[in-house]
Amino acid sequence: MEDHSKQVSTEPSNPLVDSFGRLHTSLRISVTDRCNLRCTYCMPEHSPAFFPKDELLTFEEIERVARLLVQRCGIREIRITGGEPLVRRDLHNLIARLSSIPNLQDLSLTTNGILLTEQAVQLRSAGLQRLNISLDTLSEDTFKRITRRSGLQQTLDGIEAAIRAGFSSIKLNALAIRGITENEIRRLIEFASGNQMVMRFIEYMPLDSDRSWHRNDVLSGDEILQILEDQFGSIQPITKTDLSQPSEDFLVGKHRVGIIRSVTQPFCGQCNRLRITADGAVRNCLFAQDEVSFKDQLRGGASDTEILNCVQASIQKKARAHGINDTSFEPPERPMYAIGG
Ligand code: SAM
Ligand code: SF4
Repeated sequence: MEDHSKQVSTEPSNPLVDSFGRLHTSLRISVTDRCNLRCTYCMPEHSPAFFPKDELLTFEEIERVARLLVQRCGIREIRITGGEPLVRRDLHNLIARLSSIPNLQDLSLTTNGILLTEQAVQLRSAGLQRLNISLDTLSEDTFKRITRRSGLQQTLDGIEAAIRAGFSSIKLNALAIRGITENEIRRLIEFASGNQMVMRFIEYMPLDSDRSWHRNDVLSGDEILQILEDQFGSIQPITKTDLSQPSEDFLVGKHRVGIIRSVTQPFCGQCNRLRITADGAVRNCLFAQDEVSFKDQLRGGASDTEILNCVQASIQKKARAHGINDTSFEPPERPMYAIGG
């Protein structure tokens, strides 16, 4: 007998198109707000206010929403994030559930790498396709200064474990912070390149829970390019094949390097992303002031259509741009670790 269970129409019945005509095909799902580091640009040093455990969506709940969004709304990429997603117990079970969704083309995860040594093989076997690993420095002292914890060697071991587990297109992401990143750029690029990985630098955004971000702390894409030119000589821009990708890639000497200018050159016009927080809210932008919670509906027996209405309501409220450079800009109430980066 023919198996129809995996045959799903590729034409979504409920495409997620906002009022500016942007189609949303990429979903970030945060699975926890907890973390084993305390990066200064993200978390407070002491007593972060974590969600009570029973407020976190269960794997069943996440799978239900993800399936709906893939099958009915045309989501094609899912990235798992947090907090630190690998601190969520048995995460590989969620990966296995998500990787079985028909028509999902890309399943990836962002991690600080600390727990990858233990989990890389399980995650890969469960169907995780790609990894982004955060690595801001190759110096233990600087690592401690940024993360308020030890752990550089664990991260490096985690990267090695991921390569051994067969992850092939690993991206390494460093936050670009004035006074820290300038001296790391060359070593990070050579490290990434030496391991067949792409190094990317991301401009620091006002999403830290200490609210101490200042525009002058952002090491801008232009400044990074100048450093690259000074240190490597030649820089060639690489033409984008996917316009919704925020990274501008360059060939720097023989290395491929990405720059994400979220602050100095926002890419809101091409945005195709939405986010689900660990406690079950849809956010249409990292910087959105509003969000639509659907956890109570999910737990109160809502129909699929009612859940989708919550998602559509959030999409319809999406602003044209995050307005980070407007004088009236206010950072969102939730810091990065509670949104899901
Ligand atoms: N814990 C994981 C990690 O660090 O990779 C995943 C969650 S973390 C919030 C996701 C990404 O957001 C990391 O690459 C981190 O560097 C980035 N991030 C955190 N705070 C940020 C900020 N204020 N501005 C820009 N990116 C930030
Ligand atoms: Fe944790 Fe990632 Fe935030 Fe650092 S950036 S504190 S690793 S969630």
